[in-house]
Amino acid sequence: MKKCKVLYSAVFFAACLTVGFPVRAQTIPVEKPYSLKDLNEQLVMATLWVQTSAEYRALCQQAYNMARMMLDKDLAEVKTDKKRIVIVDGDETTIQANEYEAYMIGKDLEYPSQWYDWVASASGKAIPGAVEFLTYAASKGVETYYVTNRKVDLEYQGTLDNLKKLGYPSVDAEHVVYRQKGASDDKQPRQMALEEKYHLVAYVGDNLEDYPISIYQKPIEERYRISDAHKDEWGKRFIVLPNPMYGAWEKAIKDNKKGVPAEEQNKLRKALLRQWKP
Ligand SMILES: [Mg+2]
Repeated sequence: MKKCKVLYSAVFFAACLTVGFPVRAQTIPVEKPYSLKDLNEQLVMATLWVQTSAEYRALCQQAYNMARMMLDKDLAEVKTDKKRIVIVDGDETTIQANEYEAYMIGKDLEYPSQWYDWVASASGKAIPGAVEFLTYAASKGVETYYVTNRKVDLEYQGTLDNLKKLGYPSVDAEHVVYRQKGASDDKQPRQMALEEKYHLVAYVGDNLEDYPISIYQKPIEERYRISDAHKDEWGKRFIVLPNPMYGAWEKAIKDNKKGVPAEEQNKLRKALLRQWKP
């Protein structure tokens, strides 16, 4: 009889193991891979600063006030038979693209996902001080050239529409100098072609690649060196606007490589932070 009980117990235990009752399955937490959505969280503070701080507006207006001083000085002091021009950049110099940056927050995507739709919407706002300065320049006979890395084959009409809607002067196929299809995004050849032809009063940009200083795709230390070598020109011939959200500075962090996984980008960023070590 005792032998039978032992046998029944063994059979019952084996059956429980087979059907999983009453033994509960253990939940093993699965770690989610670090995604673009996680990386995009890092855009929150920089984008908020651009969109909500009065400091951002003041810096933009300060930059364009400097540009106007440089223009007045040039008109008063420089004699030239050449046409006077200013060269400005597009995104974050004349058109605010930060609403697209904000759109990416909370989403698992990266530029250029839906970028071309955003450009076609022609909905970017003006950079504070920019329309006023370029309208003033036009009133003095100084023409604006918009040297942008927006692509002529994909972003032509949306860019013209946006600039026109905001009231910028000289918005036409001659004055908006796009990146040609399949061409490099190094702006320097386009900048130099304009410099050779016209009298250049000032450059305005938000990225050091908006100036003809041979800084295209240079690493971080080299960018410092080039910027310092031109220290007397900032705020004079070269006017700089703030952009903490994106640009050549951010690409330099990942050594100008494309397709770096989100997790790796996060690691590269964190590794470059200079941290207090108590
Ligand atoms: Mg820009």
